[in-house]
Amino acid sequence: MSRDFQHPVGLLGATGMVGQQFALYLEGHPWFRLAWLGASERSAGLHYAHAARWVQDRPMPAGVAGLPVRPAAPDAECPRLVFSAMDASVAGGIERAFARAGHFVLSNSRNHRLDPDVPLVIPEVNPEHIALVGHQRRERGWPGAIVTNPNCSTITLALALAPLRPFGIRRVMVTTLQAVSGAGYPGVPAMDMLGNAIPFIDGEEDKIAAETCKVMGTMREWGEPVEPAAVTVSAHCNRVATVDGHLVCASVELEARPSPAEVREAMAGFRGHPQELAFPTAPQRPVRVTEGVDRPQPRRDAMAGRGMAVTVGRVRECPVLGVKFVALGHNTIRGAAGASVLNAELLRTGGWLEGDFVSGAADPAPAHVD
Ligand code: NAP
Repeated sequence: MSRDFQHPVGLLGATGMVGQQFALYLEGHPWFRLAWLGASERSAGLHYAHAARWVQDRPMPAGVAGLPVRPAAPDAECPRLVFSAMDASVAGGIERAFARAGHFVLSNSRNHRLDPDVPLVIPEVNPEHIALVGHQRRERGWPGAIVTNPNCSTITLALALAPLRPFGIRRVMVTTLQAVSGAGYPGVPAMDMLGNAIPFIDGEEDKIAAETCKVMGTMREWGEPVEPAAVTVSAHCNRVATVDGHLVCASVELEARPSPAEVREAMAGFRGHPQELAFPTAPQRPVRVTEGVDRPQPRRDAMAGRGMAVTVGRVRECPVLGVKFVALGHNTIRGAAGASVLNAELLRTGGWLEGDFVSGAADPAPAHVD
């Protein structure tokens, strides 16, 4: 597809840790072109190159460096599709204002994830939940919509658990080791972080439990609110002194009591839904299983599938719950920017954007329902 056919897109929270990852991730995307940036009053009026304190390994894309940063309010220039990576203390109200003004907002913030009429989507796991968009627009009477992706640790956990659904997931105990980039910039004070592991991340444990159950939940009626999965999830979350990548150590109780070899086989064979394989940024193997590796290489493994695959290793018997494993995901790519872009690809492929961008909104027919 040539650049002429790319949808221009906006980005709220463009200057932050996740915003910067969006700028990198969207560079060269075949369907979307970053054309509008928003952030706080601190940054508004500056060019992106001056507003963003760039902390990425790769240089700032030339195409965005000269873009002006605008206040985080809908304006005539703002494209219909807007990614959002704003601080949660302000994201809720701003995202609603954009949806009310007719924008599709793809949010990384926690504010609306658990609203019954807001889709919380991982395309390989629950693509059918995107149909909640129609319900939301009718309920709220707004021409736009809010679509969310789970938080970074939940995405890693849910992708590792998704292949195990046929075995019947009952209970999950999970301990996370989460990188400092997960706390945004400047994040955790160096005096707290150096030589330390902090056994507390505000709100994270509850998010992992509730979001995992919503993502794994069932949409009994097409486009209607989701019934959360009856899975008990208990989480311990820790901040550790790594830059990127969240490691998730999970023990899982499965009704069918499969052997570790059967679990490994199910994970390695998992592809998500067939439709998603056609998405430009979907990894061919969303879950990558390493065999016999007892010395993980976080920097390499977190970047599997351009940072969009989750790497699982050490699948073994758990004397308490049955099976246990570790899973590693890139928190600002698979856990944030890449997750939102994949959701935008799902919206476009499902006809939601076509309806809105070209010929007025109509609910597209379901592409597939489980
Ligand atoms: P961050 O580095 O602190 O960036 C926050 C962004 O919000 C900045 O662009 C900031 O703009 C903007 N902002 C702050 N106040 C604002 C206001 N009043 N109006 C408009 N914009 C405002 O945080 P982050 O790590 O990128 O996280 C962004 C969101 O994604 C959070 O909700 C976070 O929970 C979520 N998330 C983060 C991760 C991760 O791994 N980091 C993963 C998943 C989800 P200025 O620079 O102008 O202040």
